Amino acid sequence: MLRRQFLHRGTVGAFGTLMGGPLLLADMHGLTSPDPFAPLAPSAEGSRITFTQPPLPYAYEALEPHIDAQTMRLHYDKHHAKYVEEANKELALAGTNADTPEALFASISKMSQKLRNNAGGAWNHDFFWRSMRPATNAQDMPADLREALTAAFGSVQTFREKFAEEALARFGSGWVWLVAVDGNLEFGSTANQDNPLMDDSPLRGTPLLGLDVWEHAYYLRYQNKRADYISNWWSVVDHDAIVHRLSKAK
Ligand code: MN
Repeated sequence: MLRRQFLHRGTVGAFGTLMGGPLLLADMHGLTSPDPFAPLAPSAEGSRITFTQPPLPYAYEALEPHIDAQTMRLHYDKHHAKYVEEANKELALAGTNADTPEALFASISKMSQKLRNNAGGAWNHDFFWRSMRPATNAQDMPADLREALTAAFGSVQTFREKFAEEALARFGSGWVWLVAVDGNLEFGSTANQDNPLMDDSPLRGTPLLGLDVWEHAYYLRYQNKRADYISNWWSVVDHDAIVHRLSKAK
């Protein structure tokens, strides 16, 4: 498939306004980590990394009614935990010298399919949890992010519509991403547990936001209505996380 079918690019006039110092959002989220939005931190073990499963940054029911507690329990306790467990088994066999998830994904095309799937699943889900905030703590989109999306895609509404189209067009299982690349914002989707950090992904860049469109992410509440899941998901998106990631994007 052509790259163009995956990518939607816009130049971001307002990108520069988001390049200020790091935001101090840890207190807002009740977290003590200095960087609550950092991707999964690996723990070093010899020349390898191992994946960990950090605690959910909110309660299972915190995303209700948009994402139900039962889905969150299964998704975090079973699906995500299994990806972490399997990724570490495969890493032990792989003998990679990669010491960060980014380095691992930068050479993932040389690794086994099993490692690719499970390392992607481990990283993507941690990123997903940290892309959302409790429904009771919903926020309006910050003005600078609104400006950046408007500059890139015409309007926030247009961006959301196109993002949803991409999510609906992803046949089977996968993810939809907003990424920063070379000073631009782009969005697109990846299959299975692939992500934009993978060296052979058709969509590449620094992930700013990711949406899980596997059926396990929404089927209990939404059944076949993926469009309703996507539309409601925006109510729990953590815009501050996007701004923070964008401020650190190269
Ligand atoms: Mn999932």
